[in-house]
Amino acid sequence: MARYTESVCAHCRREGLKLYLKGDRCYTPKCPIERRNYAPGQHGQGRRRETEYSLHLREKQKLRRIYGVLERQFRRYYGRAIRRRGITGVALMQMLELRLDNVVYRLGFGSSRPQARQLVTHGHIAVNGQKVDIPSYQVRAGDVISVREGHRDLDVIKQNIEKAQGRTIPAWLQLNAEQYSGTVLRTPEREEIQDVPVRENLVVEFYSR
Ligand code: SF4
Repeated sequence: MARYTESVCAHCRREGLKLYLKGDRCYTPKCPIERRNYAPGQHGQGRRRETEYSLHLREKQKLRRIYGVLERQFRRYYGRAIRRRGITGVALMQMLELRLDNVVYRLGFGSSRPQARQLVTHGHIAVNGQKVDIPSYQVRAGDVISVREGHRDLDVIKQNIEKAQGRTIPAWLQLNAEQYSGTVLRTPEREEIQDVPVRENLVVEFYSR
């Protein structure tokens, strides 16, 4: 499986904002963007020339990196989004939100999307009682996502669930912390994905050039 090997913090510095890819560390002064809020590399502190192309590119990269999706797969999401009824950008966002790894993160089982992805690939998660180890798996309304029995003693999951008690779970999900599970109530509206600071219309324009 293809994946990035460079530090994920470099992605935040490249985009000039926190993408929250490292869980708890993102909320501490250890977050590199607190001290070095400029692009990584030798010319990172140089002046960036903003062009229309770079504006579109950065929005696309930002969205891709937030959800941890590689270019080829991201392009496939776009291809599916344009075939859907309604606004393409919103359809794209909804598909990304309904990825299994994202839902595991939203429910608080993982402290970040990369960690949630790892919980899925390591076989700790089930959908409707069946093990699913594909992070990109698209969940649907009515699906029940749970930590599999026999995997619930994992310290990292227990700690995450404890911390998630004080966190706001999106209204389109319902958490049952005692049962280590959550239900997808419906497809999220765009307004319910406010914490993803991306102008998705620019992403659509990037691909439709
Ligand atoms: Fe981004 Fe988190 Fe790294 Fe800070 S600690 S740069 S928010 S991934």
